[in-house]
Amino acid sequence: MKCFYDAHEAVGVCKNCGRGVCNDSAAIVGKSLACKASCEEEVGVLNDLFFRNRTIYRRNAGIYTRYALVPGLLGVFSLGYALFQQDSLGSITGFYAGAGVLMLFAAGIALYNGRQFRKP
Ligand SMILES: [Zn+2]
Ligand SMILES: [Zn+2]
Repeated sequence: MKCFYDAHEAVGVCKNCGRGVCNDSAAIVGKSLACKASCEEEVGVLNDLFFRNRTIYRRNAGIYTRYALVPGLLGVFSLGYALFQQDSLGSITGFYAGAGVLMLFAAGIALYNGRQFRKP
C-alpha cells in the first residue's frame, strides 16, 4: 500500500479517514495513527470518546453488581426466614418465600446485565 500523500510505502492507516500514511505523513495520537495535521485532532477526539466509553462501561458493571446486592441479601433472608418459620406461621411464610424468590430473581437479572457490560 502506498501513502496517500506521497510516493512512500505506507506504514499504517489513519484512524480517522482510513487512508494509508507513511512515516513522514503520519502522526501518532495516543496509540493511533493519524494523517499529520489534517486528521490529528479528529483522531484525538475519537480516542477520547473511546476511552470515556470504556470507563463508563466499567462503572456500569460495578453499579449493576451493587444493584444485585440488596435484593440478593433480602432474597436470602426472606427465604431463610420462610424456611425457619415454616411450621408456626403458615401463609405468612408463603409470602416470604415468594418475595425471597422474586428478590433473588431481580438480583440475578442485575448481575446478568452487569456481565453484559463487562464483556468487551
Ligand atoms: Zn507519506
Ligand atoms: Zn486521515
